[in-house]
Amino acid sequence: MEREILHVDMDAFFASVEELDDPSLRGRPVLVGGASRRGVVAAASYAARRFGARSAMPMAEAIRRCPDAVVVAPRRERYAEVSAAVFAIFRRYTPLVEGLSFDEAFLDVTASRSLFGDGTSIARRIKAEIRGEIGLTASAGVAPCKFAAKIASDLEKPDGLVVVEGDVAAFLAPLALERMWGVGPKAAARLRAAGFATIGDLARADSRRLEQLMGESWAPHVQGLARGLDERPVDPDREAVSIGAEETYDRDVVTRRGLELCLLDHAGRVAQRLVHEGLAGDVVVVKLKYADFTLRTRRTTLPDPVADTDSIYGAARALLSRFDLAASRDAVRPVRLVGVTVAGLVAEPAEGTLSLFAEERSPERGRKLEEVVSKIADRFGGAGVTRAALLERGGNPRR
Ligand SMILES: [Mg+2]
Repeated sequence: MEREILHVDMDAFFASVEELDDPSLRGRPVLVGGASRRGVVAAASYAARRFGARSAMPMAEAIRRCPDAVVVAPRRERYAEVSAAVFAIFRRYTPLVEGLSFDEAFLDVTASRSLFGDGTSIARRIKAEIRGEIGLTASAGVAPCKFAAKIASDLEKPDGLVVVEGDVAAFLAPLALERMWGVGPKAAARLRAAGFATIGDLARADSRRLEQLMGESWAPHVQGLARGLDERPVDPDREAVSIGAEETYDRDVVTRRGLELCLLDHAGRVAQRLVHEGLAGDVVVVKLKYADFTLRTRRTTLPDPVADTDSIYGAARALLSRFDLAASRDAVRPVRLVGVTVAGLVAEPAEGTLSLFAEERSPERGRKLEEVVSKIADRFGGAGVTRAALLERGGNPRR
């Protein structure tokens, strides 16, 4: 039986939530993100995109392109709340929901059709419920595989619905190769220079030639996708939504101690959010962007899920040794962005299942502490508690 997969993606999610909550913003160019000199745009409303502002663009550049933009600081907790409402709507139609981020997911609705109608009807109903109950718009793609569904949802944004019927390869063939998964800007430029322009060109390419251009590990995978071959199941248990904190600093971080303090700051924020959402995770990821904009990530898997600052910071600090930080013993290659993410999320066990004889500094104990910190932070708007190491620098982990 042919599968039916939906990819549903909220339109300009963070910016749309801001417009929802503050009607005076509606239709105006809205940029969500930090307003500092090196802030980055987390989301741009469609009105702002008309001026060329984009998410992930430096805030200064976005404001230069769109001087009338309203800059709004991100409210992650509010986005998490709306995200939960959106995912609850997804789960009305199938338990097979694989979240890719706060605002997009794959849904396998193959077995739901006898109850709710075909994939297209389900996509319409989900879009209508998101609009009616939450007040936001989403775009959806419907296809026999994940890859095509994901591409389809993006084709008619915002408020789009694109259905891929029949021949997936024929649907993909005319599309620009930049839409391929696994083809970044550099690979795209190399492929363009070699005369490739569309996904169809990749599907038809001589496989040896594609290997020379893209590497032996990627080429067969990408060519398979380009030919519409994508058997990957929708996996509801996949390391769905991760929780992370990152910051681009006004001045580069140039010492190891500085990096450690950034990691501690982020670990604390991530721990607070994990506790707030009743989650723990066993994958810790550290991301560094160097002053020359090279981006590197390192990840590690812990024996057990954790949700406390000490465990997350410990893992993140250990990961530092796996970066090529060079320079000298104390000085490091200048870093402009530091991020810490926890993935592999699971719901934290209920109170009663925690060991009564947990060691002094066990993750459980750390989590209890975090719970208290989180409550105090909630009450005092986040300024209530600062860990000792951060106080060294007035709580401002810049260097
Ligand atoms: Mg989106």
